[in-house]
Amino acid sequence: MNILIVDDDRIDRETIVRALSRSDILCNITQVDMVDRALEVLAHTAFDVVLLDYNLPQRNGIELLIELKSMPAKENTVVIMMSTSKEDKLAISSINAGAQDFLVKTEINAFRLQRAIANAQVRASLEKELLRSHQRTKELAERDNLTGLANRYYFDESLCHEIKKQQREQSNLALLLIDLDYFKFVNDNYGHDIGDQLLIAVTKRITSCLRGSELFARLGGDEFAITLTNLESAFSASNVAKRIIESLQKPFEIGSHIISSGASIGIALCPSDSTNVKELFKYADIAMYRSKSDGRNQFCFFEAKMQEIFLENFLIENQLRHALTNNDFYLLYQPVISSKSGKIIGVEALIRFDIEGLSQRPDIFIPVAEKSRLIIDIGRWVITEAVKQLSAWQGKQGSTLTMSINLSSIQLTDEGLIEHIKSTLIAHHIDASQIEFELTETALLVEQENSTKMIHNISHLGCKISLDDFGTGFSSISHLHRFPINTVKVDKSLMPSALPKDNTKPFLTGLVVMIQSLELDVIAEGIETEIDLNLCLKLGVNKMQGYYFDKPLSVNELENRYF
Ligand code: C2E
Ligand code: CA
Ligand code: CA
Repeated sequence: MNILIVDDDRIDRETIVRALSRSDILCNITQVDMVDRALEVLAHTAFDVVLLDYNLPQRNGIELLIELKSMPAKENTVVIMMSTSKEDKLAISSINAGAQDFLVKTEINAFRLQRAIANAQVRASLEKELLRSHQRTKELAERDNLTGLANRYYFDESLCHEIKKQQREQSNLALLLIDLDYFKFVNDNYGHDIGDQLLIAVTKRITSCLRGSELFARLGGDEFAITLTNLESAFSASNVAKRIIESLQKPFEIGSHIISSGASIGIALCPSDSTNVKELFKYADIAMYRSKSDGRNQFCFFEAKMQEIFLENFLIENQLRHALTNNDFYLLYQPVISSKSGKIIGVEALIRFDIEGLSQRPDIFIPVAEKSRLIIDIGRWVITEAVKQLSAWQGKQGSTLTMSINLSSIQLTDEGLIEHIKSTLIAHHIDASQIEFELTETALLVEQENSTKMIHNISHLGCKISLDDFGTGFSSISHLHRFPINTVKVDKSLMPSALPKDNTKPFLTGLVVMIQSLELDVIAEGIETEIDLNLCLKLGVNKMQGYYFDKPLSVNELENRYF
């Protein structure tokens, strides 16, 4: 047995060593005289017993005891506190701090020491047992035995807590209730063992759809619940629900059985549906039954309006996928006019696709493309197509137009974007300086670190960067400074024609003066009337774009009018 004696009194230490040598205990003894030394030897040696003097210089025995108890590797070390004082209070506080026994120094002899050590070891193992069973009881109360997920009790408690937190932080939360389709059939036909294994397999698949920060519970039977917090929008919840349903599509192999098991999901939102746990559960439940009765293996929002928007977006998303595979997208080009010469100096590429002869509006389908991340592929197509077109014009006209291409914030997370731009430029012999990427301020603010890096990389390629829709969002000068921006596009809503008389003139004037003072290029968008034009000329805006000159045009139209 390894024993450590911590005592600053040499005579006392000798007394203890003598007592130990007279006992039946076979031991190695290490002696130190202060807390810091004790910590040093404890760091590299495992001791079975520490005989610890209460009164030590600098730091007393209790301090060592507390440090020792916080070291996980020392849980098998028992501590017997010793003091010259017979005071009960001292003994009690030592035991409370984690000592297994207490000895009065003047009473130490071989028999008492041997008994104290034996008692302390028994007590230590009982304490460990108690701790273990305590943890087990707590787990039983909070965990579902079969899947290891949180149980209903724990889920309810946590949901209450989360709702309060989200309200304080003014963020959104979604409750998803998930019910397996035809689970009863599995239980009845294959038996409960197979049913149990299916539940475990389902749990695994659903877990793989989550980030890990969500609260995920099995409420009982084949019913599961998930709480999603800090939602950007309701559609983040639908994305998770969609992923879960997709993850359950593939049949499960359980024993010798192949079992298909879909799920129906109901979604309720807090605060928009309710801020009350019971009500949220009720609404999610109603939504879940709606999913079931609508044909299972799908999800529903409680709020009908949400469902409508979701279905609409879902339709658009499918149309976009279709357009992408069928190469149905095309670009229109809106001329950018030089104020000085009145001639075309560039174009902005604007994407379109038609359904049944009707041109679809990008301000409706682009947000859907962003949410589904289809914008990454669509955006790459736009870059290729626009560069290809510029190259064609260059060959025909020898012109040096600039091509402006809109970039979405999501595209700034596309790790292959730089390579794509680079290779496209090379393939079509286009100089990087002829391409101008348009970003909005919001794009600069999303995922700042990555997007900043990406914007700098684009700029390093030699492409220009312009800030689109300036004057609608934050319009912060700091952004103009922090990013490598060449041009600012003043938003069309600031033009006199867009607003009641004289409402915006001072604002527009102020913005333009500010941008010019930073020596940045200005483009005024949405020039519709002579009044817009004259104001911009007066302000010294050097480039202009708008219906006054032309709407976005097809290649043919543009060539006919300008070349
Ligand atoms: P934006 O980048 O601000 O594009 C300018 C929009 O203003 C275009 O709408 C254009 O047709 C319209 N416009 C031009 N001149 C005038 C005018 O004088 N008056 C008025 N009222 N409007 C004018 P469009 O083509 O419908 O595009 C809407 C938005 O969709 C774009 O706004 C842009 O944010 C996005 N978008 C379009 N194409 C793409 C694309 O290829 N990629 C990405 N990421 N976004 C795109
Ligand atoms: Ca634009
Ligand atoms: Ca714009």
